[in-house]
Amino acid sequence: MDQITIKNLEIFANHGVYEEENRLGQLFIVSAVLYVNTWRAGNKDDLDMSVDYGSVCKMIADCMEKKTFHLIEAAAEYTAREILRAFPLVHRVDLTINKPWAPIGLHLDTAGVTIHRGRHRAYIGVGSNIGDSKTIISMALKHISGIPDIEIKKCSDFIITPPYGVTDQPDFLNGCVEIETLMEPEELLDTLNQIEKIFGRERVIHWGPRTLDLDILFYDDCVINTKRLTVPHPDMANRGFVLEPLNQIAGWYMHPLYHKTVEKLYNEWIRGRKE
Ligand code: ATP
Ligand code: CA
Ligand code: CA
Repeated sequence: MDQITIKNLEIFANHGVYEEENRLGQLFIVSAVLYVNTWRAGNKDDLDMSVDYGSVCKMIADCMEKKTFHLIEAAAEYTAREILRAFPLVHRVDLTINKPWAPIGLHLDTAGVTIHRGRHRAYIGVGSNIGDSKTIISMALKHISGIPDIEIKKCSDFIITPPYGVTDQPDFLNGCVEIETLMEPEELLDTLNQIEKIFGRERVIHWGPRTLDLDILFYDDCVINTKRLTVPHPDMANRGFVLEPLNQIAGWYMHPLYHKTVEKLYNEWIRGRKE
């Protein structure tokens, strides 16, 4: 993607782990690479169709000057998020904050941090089988829509499905949504877990009955396998209640490990069921 670059913007601010740094302040040098499709602005020669780097510089200065963080990591995280919130044409930002006067008692050019943050597309599986599932799901989706860094882009139909794994429990209502989010994967997982809690989810037995279950099915085309998070969702190819609604809104989506589209996985699941 095209890039708009800001190099070595000088800002006086008060970040640092030492009290003197917070009190006296020091120089910070900030660079940013903004990933923006510039062809439209380029063809029309119109700034409104691009990102005004002057405004971005002012925003960086504002973010850096108005708050005091211990860590430049935190200053970078905050600043990158504010840029992405304020400039919807920026798909991604690489932000570098350097400290030329880092108080370490040794000579150096700069100490710094570079972070890469951007917009992500994720698919979330939604399920419920306790209480008034229809109302719970519609309230949960409304709640998700109200979260600043998540936008629901598409929503499948919700279908009634028989329980999976533990079968002596009520039927489920299942569906899925496509979201755009500024959140990193584990941040998204934390947020979804909080929403499950708000709607009364208690983890008693695995695959047991629940008021609300929110699973991350895909996050861009990332493959993630940490203690807390496995993406793509490891069992999705075996689950009609995931594949059927997902096929409605993302049939063309390529599974990054199986290298098959959701549509193909769904058709294979149907065939497997008939055999
Ligand atoms: P399943 O994941 O097989 O559908 P479940 O949804 O009933 O089962 P939960 O009790 O909701 O399982 O989740 C257990 C843990 O799974 C969560 O605490 C979370 O850390 C972890 N987890 C791993 N990968 C994912 C993912 N892709 N989406 C949501 N949770 C995940
Ligand atoms: Ca689940
Ligand atoms: Ca879950």
